Amino acid sequence: MQNKKPDIKESVNDKSGTRIVVPGSSWQAGKHLSCPECGNDRYFTEVAHDVTIITNYVQNSDGSFTPKSDDSTINGEVRLYCAVCHADLSAYYHRFAEMIF
Ligand SMILES: [Zn+2]
Repeated sequence: MQNKKPDIKESVNDKSGTRIVVPGSSWQAGKHLSCPECGNDRYFTEVAHDVTIITNYVQNSDGSFTPKSDDSTINGEVRLYCAVCHADLSAYYHRFAEMIF
C-alpha cells in the first residue's frame, strides 16, 4: 500500500473546472469534517488514480473461483470530494485518511 500525498493546489479552479478547497480552519480536532461549500458532513468520495489491484484466487472442484486475498497499490494521486456538491476536499485528505476505521 503506497499512498502519495494529494497535490494541493491554491487556485480556485483546476483544469477540469472542479472547485479547489484551500486548507482552512473548518475541520477542528474531534469535530466532523463538513464540506465548506454545501455543509454536507455525511457523504464523501475518494478517487484513487492509477491503481494496481492484485487478487489471488483458488479454483474450486466445480471449476468456479473464490477470491482469497487482494492487494492494491495506488500509483497516482488520491483525491477527496464532497459526494453531494463534488467540491474538491483533497486539502483534508490526510486527516480523512487518519480517520478511516
Ligand atoms: Zn459539498
